[in-house]
Amino acid sequence: MNIQNYINGSYHNPIQNNWIDNYNPSNGEVYGQTPNSTKVDIDKAYNAAKSAFRQWSQTTLEERSRILIKISELLEANLDRFVEAESKDNGKPISLAKSVDIPRAASNFRFFGNAITQFASESHESVGQNAINYTLRQPIGVVGCISPWNLPLYLFTWKIAPAIAAGNCVVAKPSEVTPMTAYLLGKILNEAGLPKGVLNIVHGLGNTTGQAIVEHPDIKAISFTGGTSTGAHIAKVAAPMFKKLSLELGGKNPNIIFADCDYDDMLETTVRSSFANQGQICLCGSRIFVEASIYEKFKTDFVEKIKQLKVGHPSESDTNIGALVSKSHLEKVKDYINIAKEENGVILCGGNEVKIKGFENGYYLEPTVIEVKTDECRINQEEIFGPVVTIMPFNTEDDVLQMANKVKYGLSATLWTNNLKRTMRLSNQLQVGIVWANTWMMRDLRTPFGGIKASGVGREGGFEALRFFTEAKNVCIKY
Ligand code: NAD
Repeated sequence: MNIQNYINGSYHNPIQNNWIDNYNPSNGEVYGQTPNSTKVDIDKAYNAAKSAFRQWSQTTLEERSRILIKISELLEANLDRFVEAESKDNGKPISLAKSVDIPRAASNFRFFGNAITQFASESHESVGQNAINYTLRQPIGVVGCISPWNLPLYLFTWKIAPAIAAGNCVVAKPSEVTPMTAYLLGKILNEAGLPKGVLNIVHGLGNTTGQAIVEHPDIKAISFTGGTSTGAHIAKVAAPMFKKLSLELGGKNPNIIFADCDYDDMLETTVRSSFANQGQICLCGSRIFVEASIYEKFKTDFVEKIKQLKVGHPSESDTNIGALVSKSHLEKVKDYINIAKEENGVILCGGNEVKIKGFENGYYLEPTVIEVKTDECRINQEEIFGPVVTIMPFNTEDDVLQMANKVKYGLSATLWTNNLKRTMRLSNQLQVGIVWANTWMMRDLRTPFGGIKASGVGREGGFEALRFFTEAKNVCIKY
């Protein structure tokens, strides 16, 4: 099935007729073509967005809210179609697409449809000076949204929903590796009555289509989620044009387990936080540190649980681990397993490709647990973004804090302990944007989301996202 750009409310082939193959990771086959759009397509999308901006920015909050909530309802009504498309395009188990990805995409529209009606700005009385200040929160204009392949529609809508809720018009690009659900979204936008040009979805490679969005002088803000090196490149291109930037980048998150935790809950959640979505979630706890007194027990129990996970075709309802997203990504993850061996890491389980009968060319890999001797080895420092975790013991709270912070990334951390003082001490000192204690990836869409250090700049979520997608203008009136 071929994909087209969605510009000004209708579908179009790329103007220069450049296309790339779209692969099904579960069997390694090409199943369609995706536009590789160029500057001329971005200009066309920009012009549509610009023409729509005046009216959309003046549309009442109630009306914007109504349309966003309608999009959410239509996504829910078309759940199965989107779930199948997401699983086929990405390789993720259909159960995950059904329980997490597509419902969350619908929630994103519903949440920001509601949030925009509650988005208040500030006012300050300058006492003794007969003056009052109030702050306008005005939409920026035309903004760019660029998203990755791991949670395709989930992360795409996490950007575009607040952008349009706040009154902007958008030129958006999903990952070229997983374009399908963003393509399908266009039809829903029309059905929901989103005015033409408010949201334009353009497909293609990062260094052609993505680059053209970032380079466009009149696209005033870029919300980007993806790899750290891509984020650094985008920042460099955008800086001379003084674009507003939100960068959600890579992670290498510690999962810190103390002996006093609720063990069974911890074990079950740690299986999920390690391998959900084949470990391809920026929030996965890829470095597991376990207090020495329970280390051997944890090692045995964890490995036993991981060996029970079923690596299988994404469409089978009992599959735990589906396919990795692409051949090149599979090769990258396998390279890291080899690096681990060279660094004297001990492979406790996994480490091999899996050939599934009938789907031998799919990109399957066993969930892999590697015991490392030092936290400074490459597999403990570099983002792998696949079904691979490291484990090692620690002795004291101070030791584990040092190790947790000694990476270039700073996205999230998970703590397992029933000691509240320790939870609060560590939460204060961990160099990350998000801490979970005794849970993982529990999300409340009102909360700020994002990382520090090489994990990003800025925050998404709740009013933070609406702040990003608006400019504050202060008005001071003397009376
Ligand atoms: P990527 O950086 O390769 O690509 C992300 C997006 O950027 C894609 O749409 C791509 O086409 C585009 N892109 C690439 N080069 C570009 C350029 N020069 N100009 C403009 N756009 C460009 O990342 P990926 O491989 O798709 O995703 C995996 C990465 O995303 C991992 O590092 C992961 O940690 C990160 N991620 C972060 C978060 C977060 O919230 N912090 C969430 C999910 C994924």
